[in-house]
Amino acid sequence: MTRILILGGTREAVELAQRLHERAGLQIVSSLAGRTRTPHMPPGEVRVGGFGGSAGLRDYLIRERIDLLVDATHPFAERMHGNAVRASREGGVPILRLERSAWRQEPGDRWIAVDGVEDAAQAAPEHGRRAFLTTGVKELAAFREIEPVWFLVRLVDPPAAPLPLHHYELILGRGPFAATDEEALMRHHRIDLLISKESGGDSTYGKIAAARILNIPVIMIRRPATSSGLEVVASTDAAVERIAELCGGRPS
Ligand code: NAP
Repeated sequence: MTRILILGGTREAVELAQRLHERAGLQIVSSLAGRTRTPHMPPGEVRVGGFGGSAGLRDYLIRERIDLLVDATHPFAERMHGNAVRASREGGVPILRLERSAWRQEPGDRWIAVDGVEDAAQAAPEHGRRAFLTTGVKELAAFREIEPVWFLVRLVDPPAAPLPLHHYELILGRGPFAATDEEALMRHHRIDLLISKESGGDSTYGKIAAARILNIPVIMIRRPATSSGLEVVASTDAAVERIAELCGGRPS
């Protein structure tokens, strides 16, 4: 049996577990951080919660006799990515990175690219007064001083406390989001600015298409860099193919 640990929290990680879990010769374990209350659950064995840094993950890889580590975490899960790379090196376990491609600007897009969430917050008042903010709960604190802008904030789960923003409305929702629905939402709230991470993928692209249709600027937070020297695949199909080459695993 070849044992594969998939670091998840993304749609691609669930799809990969679905594609691999019935393959002969493979045992799949999926790992979730435990952030969302009702996550999309992959089939097969699932563990939830942090490992305790890169050393904890390295020890887990050794103890659980993992043969391949697949880092399919979100492009902005920077800490987990760094831990995965270190643990793979120190534990002598090969690693494959599954990372969806970034979105590409299309004609009509009005993107303002920034390097991080603090830069996004600083830039916001220059570009709009009613912003649709979709960065996720962890990043909201960066916008706490931004008094002139009203925010429409979309989160997956209800927050434990009031949001650290001067003026906002909270909505809950989980993708995929259709462009037509995003357009209607943005019209309804008279949104004049979108603030988004450069997450890539289809599931949250609707707001980007809607901003283009509505001629609204987008403050686009660039991705953190992927560690150099890693083997990276950009789709579940490519990951399945590469894992078959590396580990076998025939369709059953
Ligand atoms: P992060 O800052 O990179 O990681 C923080 C800590 O959370 C890690 O050090 C690790 O704890 C734990 N962790 C993260 N992913 C884990 C996983 N798959 N399994 C077990 N532990 C994990 O991560 P984040 O940005 O908070 O994201 C948390 C999770 O949400 C990730 O799995 C990611 O794929 C998913 N997600 C993130 C975003 C985003 O925008 N950041 C968006 C959608 C989904 P230890 O050090 O204790 O091991």
